[in-house]
Amino acid sequence: MTAARYDVVVVGGGHNGLVAAAYLARAGRSVLVLERRAGLGGAAVSEQVFPGVDVRLSAYSYLVSLLPDRIAADLDLGLTLADRAVHSATLLGDRALLVQPGSFRALTGSPAEWAGWQRFYGRLTTLAEDLSPTLVEPLPTRAELESRLRDPQLYRDLVDRPLADVVADHLDHDVTRGIALTDGLIGTFADVHAADGLAGRCFLYHLVGNGTGLWRVPVGGMGAVSGAMTDSARRAGTEFLTRATVTAVDTRDDGATVHWTDDDGTTHAVDAGHVVAGCAPAVLEELTGAAPAPRPVGAQLKVNTVLTRLPRLRSGLDPAVAFGGTCHVDEAATRIDAAYAQAAAGALPDVIPFEVYCHSLTDPSIVGDTGLHTLTVFGLHTPADLFTADPVGTREEAVRRVVAQLDAQLAEPLADVLATDAEGRPCLQASSPLDVEASLAMPGGHIFHGDLAWPVATDAQPAGTWGAATAHPRIVAASSGGTVRGGAVSGLGGYAAARHLLG
Ligand SMILES: Cc1cc2nc3c(=O)[nH]c(=O)nc-3n(C[C@H](O)[C@H](O)[C@H](O)COP(=O)(O)OP(=O)(O)OC[C@H]3O[C@@H](n4cnc5c(N)ncnc54)[C@H](O)[C@@H]3O)c2cc1C
Repeated sequence: MTAARYDVVVVGGGHNGLVAAAYLARAGRSVLVLERRAGLGGAAVSEQVFPGVDVRLSAYSYLVSLLPDRIAADLDLGLTLADRAVHSATLLGDRALLVQPGSFRALTGSPAEWAGWQRFYGRLTTLAEDLSPTLVEPLPTRAELESRLRDPQLYRDLVDRPLADVVADHLDHDVTRGIALTDGLIGTFADVHAADGLAGRCFLYHLVGNGTGLWRVPVGGMGAVSGAMTDSARRAGTEFLTRATVTAVDTRDDGATVHWTDDDGTTHAVDAGHVVAGCAPAVLEELTGAAPAPRPVGAQLKVNTVLTRLPRLRSGLDPAVAFGGTCHVDEAATRIDAAYAQAAAGALPDVIPFEVYCHSLTDPSIVGDTGLHTLTVFGLHTPADLFTADPVGTREEAVRRVVAQLDAQLAEPLADVLATDAEGRPCLQASSPLDVEASLAMPGGHIFHGDLAWPVATDAQPAGTWGAATAHPRIVAASSGGTVRGGAVSGLGGYAAARHLLG
């Protein structure tokens, strides 16, 4: 810290805080970023998770879709985002459904289902092309947004009707319906049969990124993404302090004082013209003494593993193909319904729907010359509340179920191909929402800091603004959950904060 006062102090060096810092510093503002963790990037980081195993995993988030090319160009990020060879594979015991650009293979053989798939995803591509440019413009009203869409009915359906019904308009089969529905449930605990818009919003953001909805692998892992953002901000003069936990923000008419503590527990204060909140809204409430809103509920189980080689599959499908895209396990629509019902009733689902990814297939750079592979599991419908009574025991039971379900699809047990770390332990690390909350300060372990919002104006965030205002004129939101359109690894929260301040 070289000054007693900065134009802007950013609370939280997650990727959105970094994007805000980079834009503001490039516009000539003096900027200080305060981050409580030892490193920058928040949920967008690469880490060597297993001692002695030289593999840098995207420890939390792993795929990029929503980061606009415009932000990457404005900030000279120089990222490489690699396409995956297949869209998805669904493992069904001795069979598998493969979705590649242009084809289904080996499920029902139903031409009608394939036609329905093409119609649905064709409509969604049109929606993505029309909607995605609006995300880097000031907030439109809902009517303004719909007037920009060639297929406004699809948007209306997603807003007003249960996601399950919209999917059922296009798809008949339990498995294909389930594949579509999962995009409404990533990190979101929602009933796909409810007309509350919860799953619809999550679905929308998962299908519109950069006008294509494609999810790509950042070469070098997520650490390369936040690292490029850090470099961009640093080149423009941003200062950073890590292991600096902000404890309070006092606002005045002409600025704010930010109080923070270092690792030794020593307290410090710094003045700012404006504060950019790169932390979650619930954290900001604590820092400003505001009345707390209902706590978010994260709902995912994340399992990171390192393998000596990819396991063979019962279906005979080449594992490099199966795990090369999004590999669905137990994600048929009826399975999703059953898991939701159990979790909503307070029980860990007997069958946890989940997806598996192997990022080292698309980006071998993360495993170096070790010859190892990564395999990542992202489980649905495991809300934070289920873990509260027995955090470790429940997590272990959830992992046991997921591994048993995966083993049911494999021709050899996962345990046989798990690498071991320097102390001989299997390379398998799991985190529940409670673990995510503890390590990242994401309240409730919610991966978006709270449920996503429709990308339009609200009473609190009127049309023509950037959707980054807070209750305090001197504090501007930048984070995933603090801004209307900031969810996921998109940089859109940081972009909105910067545009709000720069006009
Ligand atoms: C397991 C998991 C998987 C995910 N997968 C994907 C994916 O594949 N693709 C995708 O697009 N999105 C994914 N997401 C979501 C995405 O990673 C997040 O929504 C996004 O990274 C949030 O970025 P952010 O900068 O807004 O906030 P964060 O990344 O949460 O950063 C906030 C920062 O503020 C810091 N902070 C908090 N309180 C304080 C304080 N008092 N003082 C100082 N610093 C503080 C935190 O330590 C943190 O570094 C995933 C998230 C998780 C957890």
